[in-house]
Amino acid sequence: MFENLTSRLTRVLDSIRGQGRLTEEQIAAAARELRMALLEADVALPVIKDFIDKVKERALGAEITQSLTPGQAFLRVVQSELTATLGGTAEPLNLRAQPPAVILMAGLQGSGKTTTTAKLARRLKHDEKKNVIVVSCDVYRPAAIEQLRIVATAVGVDVFPSSVGQSPVDIATAALAHARLQYADVLIVDTAGRTTVDQDMMAEIAQLHAALNPVETLFVVDSMTGQDAAKTARAFADALPLTGVILTKIDGDSRGGAALSVRQVTGRPIKFLGVGEKSDKLEVFHPDRIANRIIG
Ligand code: GDP
Repeated sequence: MFENLTSRLTRVLDSIRGQGRLTEEQIAAAARELRMALLEADVALPVIKDFIDKVKERALGAEITQSLTPGQAFLRVVQSELTATLGGTAEPLNLRAQPPAVILMAGLQGSGKTTTTAKLARRLKHDEKKNVIVVSCDVYRPAAIEQLRIVATAVGVDVFPSSVGQSPVDIATAALAHARLQYADVLIVDTAGRTTVDQDMMAEIAQLHAALNPVETLFVVDSMTGQDAAKTARAFADALPLTGVILTKIDGDSRGGAALSVRQVTGRPIKFLGVGEKSDKLEVFHPDRIANRIIG
């Protein structure tokens, strides 16, 4: 079992209350424990370093009031810095565009793109009463096209047909024209993913982006990928003007460290969490909640 940050800090820091300010020695000891806790939560190494530097700077001036132990004072700094780094408050989906508002889904194969496309479509249709159409541009895997058709149909969302013989940009352009004719509010475009970052894939999704001019370009990332999440995020953020992130499989064992890595690397808000395989398992991302999970 992991030792949570609260007990780590209680162990290394003096537990006497109301001592004025945190000392440099206390901060150094606490920072070592924070580093261990973040490593266990699978936050990427360079991200840990940056984050700890910020916390140290803030902790140095932090006052320890009568009611706080040094450990609690340090923990408060960590919690508030973590929540702020994760975006502070929940950030809604932006659909402020001439309809149909286009949402482009990007990410590695297996990250949960297709599942999340259906989840998002369901949410927009059922909760926000939007007229939604989805389309798959994965011309390499007929199974992926079929998967989207099945999951989207199951949630009552229209699917624009596509097939492996077509070019992704042709499919996307035709889907957009169709969505306009149907007066759709939203068109969600699922894309091909590879198991690793790949130049061709990046070039293809950049072309799709140019053809569709999406109002949201969402990077879907598996929270279980830990350290790799940061590298993947960097590659997608370099290739595309991302507008947000969806972190999937947070219902698994992961402590959510990928949230901090991906937010730091992309600078983009995490908008939703995937919390299960079923189509209703999508939650709005709340920075403070994941901060508590990361700290443990
Ligand atoms: P894609 O290749 O990126 O389109 O990924 P898929 O949508 O096919 O998802 C890959 C696998 O992850 C499937 O078995 C999904 O059921 C599963 N999956 C996706 N999102 C979640 C999630 O939030 N939680 C869990 N537990 N499984 C998920």
